[in-house]
Amino acid sequence: MTPVVHAQISVVVPVFNEEAIIAELYERLLKSVTKVSDNYEIIFVNDGSFDDSIEEIKKIAGKNKKVFFINFSKNFGHQVAVTAGLNHSNGLTTVIIDADLQDPPELIPELYKKHKEGYNVVYAKRKKRKGETFFKLITAKLFYRILRSLTSTNIPLDTGDFRLIDKKVLRALKSMPEQNKFLRGQIAWVGFKQGFVEYDRDPRTTGETGYSISKMFKFAMDGITGFSDKPLLFVSRMGIVMSFVSFCIIIYALFSYFVLDKTITGWTSIIVSTMFIGGIQLISIGIIGEYISRINKNILNRPLYIIEDTNCNLEDQ
Ligand code: UDP
Ligand code: MG
Repeated sequence: MTPVVHAQISVVVPVFNEEAIIAELYERLLKSVTKVSDNYEIIFVNDGSFDDSIEEIKKIAGKNKKVFFINFSKNFGHQVAVTAGLNHSNGLTTVIIDADLQDPPELIPELYKKHKEGYNVVYAKRKKRKGETFFKLITAKLFYRILRSLTSTNIPLDTGDFRLIDKKVLRALKSMPEQNKFLRGQIAWVGFKQGFVEYDRDPRTTGETGYSISKMFKFAMDGITGFSDKPLLFVSRMGIVMSFVSFCIIIYALFSYFVLDKTITGWTSIIVSTMFIGGIQLISIGIIGEYISRINKNILNRPLYIIEDTNCNLEDQ
């Protein structure tokens, strides 16, 4: 058996419709990563882009043997794209970075330096987020706060997936078989020594966000269902409260009929309370459904992604 040769540092880049920026991204990544080591590898994962991102990537891979690409057969989503990159990463350390240059590649040596101080995970914490819409800022802030209050896993606030992990963390991540990936939660969950470096998040220079509202919603639900059972607890508690309240109302109705000799009337109150209960039931079924659909997905156990072509060695996943 030939011994495995590890790269000192691997960089995993998920790409969705980023053709305009790939050349610049590569230049900046190269400059930054070679400051850490010449023994590097860069893995681009093309997540079913509609544009010519993959041609750009292949051009670069043709020139540099340390550049790898994984081309998906369609769009599988950001978290899956990163997972594919991680599966093929062969580095002693691995950096996950967005392709849109919102995560500055120049920060990589700093992340690495912090890792050398003894941290297994170094995440980049955004101080400011420039050029994001008000809606995105508010929903992101709200989501992280809600998630934090729901889960006992200590998921760091206001971080994306821009981070460095070492081989031990990578191995732990690879052993987590869930289909609904929520990497920043998973990385927090595995433990180890976690540190951070702060930076200002730049606005997107070209292209537009690949995270539509429905993708953001699914992502948020993956985070919550993967790391908390509290919504289910909430449903059962609400059931108990509602039954208690209606029991009191029944007692009151019987009491006023038999003792006070007054019949409670009222069409409106019946309709309103029925609709209220109906609403609560639908919400509850919905919450339970979110969990069940994820159980279903895990039981089907389909491959997370399908690769159309790649220059990675598919055997050493
Ligand atoms: N991305 C992806 N698949 C998707 C959506 C996004 O691989 O379905 C990539 C995208 O190219 C970028 C990163 O994931 O490198 C972050 O996406 P984006 O910038 O659209 O998200 P935002 O920064 O707006 O949260
Ligand atoms: Mg972005």
